Amino acid sequence: MPLKPFSIALAGNPNSGKTTIFNNLTGTRQKVGNWPGVTVAKKEGKIRHRGLDLIITDLPGTYSLTPFSIEEIVARNFILDEHPDVVIDIIDSSNLERSLYLATQLRELDCKVLFALNMTDLARSRGIKIDTDKLSELLAVPVVATVGNKNEGMDRLLEAAVGLAESETDTARRRRVKYSKDIEAAISELQQDLVRECAETVPYNPRWTAIKLLEDDKVVKERCVSVAADRGRALFEKTDHLRRRIMDLYADEPEIVMTDERYGFIAGIMREVQTNATYRRVDISRNIDLVLTNRFVGFPIFLFFIWAMFQSTFSVGEYPMQWIESGVGLVSKAIDALLPQSLLKDLVIDGIVAGVGSVIVFLPNIVILFFFIALFEDTGYMSRCAFLMDRIMHLIGLHGKSFIPMLMGFGCNVPAIMAARTLESEKDRILTILITPFMSCSARLPVYIVLAGTFFAGHAGSVIFAIYLLGIVMSILTGRLFRSTLLRGADAPFVMELPPYRVPMLKSLMIHMWDRSKMFLKKMGGVILVGSVVVWTLSAFPRTVSYDTDYAAAKREAIAAFDARIQAAAPDHRQRLEALKDESLAELERRQRFEKAEKSYMGMIGKTIAPVFAPLGIDWRASVALLTGFVAKEIVVSTMGVLYAVGDRSEGDVLQQALQESGMTPLSAFALMTFVLLYVPCIATVTTIRQETGSNGWMLFSVAYSTGLAWLAAFVIYQGGRLLGLG
Ligand code: GDP
Ligand code: MG
Repeated sequence: MPLKPFSIALAGNPNSGKTTIFNNLTGTRQKVGNWPGVTVAKKEGKIRHRGLDLIITDLPGTYSLTPFSIEEIVARNFILDEHPDVVIDIIDSSNLERSLYLATQLRELDCKVLFALNMTDLARSRGIKIDTDKLSELLAVPVVATVGNKNEGMDRLLEAAVGLAESETDTARRRRVKYSKDIEAAISELQQDLVRECAETVPYNPRWTAIKLLEDDKVVKERCVSVAADRGRALFEKTDHLRRRIMDLYADEPEIVMTDERYGFIAGIMREVQTNATYRRVDISRNIDLVLTNRFVGFPIFLFFIWAMFQSTFSVGEYPMQWIESGVGLVSKAIDALLPQSLLKDLVIDGIVAGVGSVIVFLPNIVILFFFIALFEDTGYMSRCAFLMDRIMHLIGLHGKSFIPMLMGFGCNVPAIMAARTLESEKDRILTILITPFMSCSARLPVYIVLAGTFFAGHAGSVIFAIYLLGIVMSILTGRLFRSTLLRGADAPFVMELPPYRVPMLKSLMIHMWDRSKMFLKKMGGVILVGSVVVWTLSAFPRTVSYDTDYAAAKREAIAAFDARIQAAAPDHRQRLEALKDESLAELERRQRFEKAEKSYMGMIGKTIAPVFAPLGIDWRASVALLTGFVAKEIVVSTMGVLYAVGDRSEGDVLQQALQESGMTPLSAFALMTFVLLYVPCIATVTTIRQETGSNGWMLFSVAYSTGLAWLAAFVIYQGGRLLGLG
């Protein structure tokens, strides 16, 4: 004789994964229809499991079993009237507390309940730990952990369901909500009446019925009326009396008091069952945020952090910078000693070693800058920056979220522009892409370090900070301008996430820092090496033969003249004359190199474009340097190295000295830095802009706009400064 199939119902909150698990269990054997009389979908599936027939029903998703919504009534009636052998309560483990409300209500019903702790993957990833044994023990229910969308735990779930269906009911072991004394008294009084008066006619478990009557549950009341007829009247009078007493005692409706007490019960379970790794973190984070995102002090603190970042980038970086500098000097000297005088030697020393060397000394600064950016990201401070900037960003019609690409731009504009992809609105994205290049990337840092270090020695860090700030201001002004003209529209609404602060892991900091610094080193071997060679070639040619011979003649003459004087001089005078001779020869060589650079292709280019830059206080050599900066911003420094540093090769800070002697002033240096900050970003960034906006138009626009703005800003600074008598 075939056994009656087991009936298994799946209950649970909406989105707890019921349907997913239902599909996992039943596969294609599903029957989809409606629940009788209502438009709520009913899904049923018949399967065989170990020779047993199982009928599985997907109940509507509900948060409770109060008869307020059609879904709740359908789910409850199914359990009450169809008596499924097992009800599986699908629980969203990442939302245990909310799920337990339905669970405790199911526990009060006269049915066999089994918990499927679903979404355990989500819970784990959120740092939530649930003690399933404890939960099972506290509520006396079997508990099975599942991951619905990965089909994990389904066999164990069926196993447990069948086991529970086959087991004897063990009402004594059943744990359920225990209400406070007066309510329990009312429940048991009513329960006794129910059993005495109409036990045979009331179809449900008497305790549950008593509770529902006290809660004034319309459906249960009607049910009682229909079955208990006259005998029901006395029951209702009793119920009314008890309800009034509870209302007198608690000054609240019994259903509200009982709901509160259920939540109290759940809170107790939660405390025992769930340890929340994130709780403490969230609390600590909240406290930190009270300060760091405070309306008044948050912004000054943010500015301080950024200032401290540049200050230490500059000051801490100085020591390793000097070591690398002397290292480059040593390499240069060694090659000088090894190779015979030749064009190749010039190329290696003046082109490659000087070019690459003048940039590689900034590796420590760049590593430190990236360290800070990684630190901000890993601790969670980066999102606070976005949060703090939100109000300011709204001034330009952008959301604080746009500030993250901008902040990343401090590292490198290429990934920063790509990061704008997270913005949903097309206009927001294009606007963010257009203003991100004004965030001064790490490649521009060497230029500032050289110029600020030379002309603002004591305040280099602050001057660099000011330049970065200027970049931010320019991007804000630009954003505002474009928002009201080219890219009109409102900013898209966004939720600002504030993830909990984390203690940064040194290893992850190192990895982040190193990944980015590697890019810098790769650039060294690639574009900067090639750029240096090109710059050197353009500055070393054409080699006018007569010029070289002229120079050789001049040198010979000078040597002869000095030697004659030394011979004639008194012995104690000779040493001074020797020194004078060395100095004069060096000066001669300097002048020769300088003239050579001026007559080179580089010089020709520089002289051609110089008029454009003259009003900015930028001479022809810096103009050429700016031109080469299009390839990569670091090359600006190496070009300056080749064009300015025409003195003795072995000296330490040749470039600094040469710059000081070149007629550049603090004012013109600042104008130059401003120009470097704002003008066309490097070729990689420009390509990325085209790729991310999907249009040549925006790319060309960005190039023209930034370069135009750079010229204008540098002009205002230089000429304005001169009017004020600053330079
Ligand atoms: P229902 O409203 O209870 O029927 O929930 P669904 O079955 O429709 O599932 C809601 C969403 O949760 C779907 O996108 C599922 O893919 C997903 N989901 C189901 N179970 C899990 C799980 O264990 N882990 C995760 N991460 N997602 C799940
Ligand atoms: Mg569903």
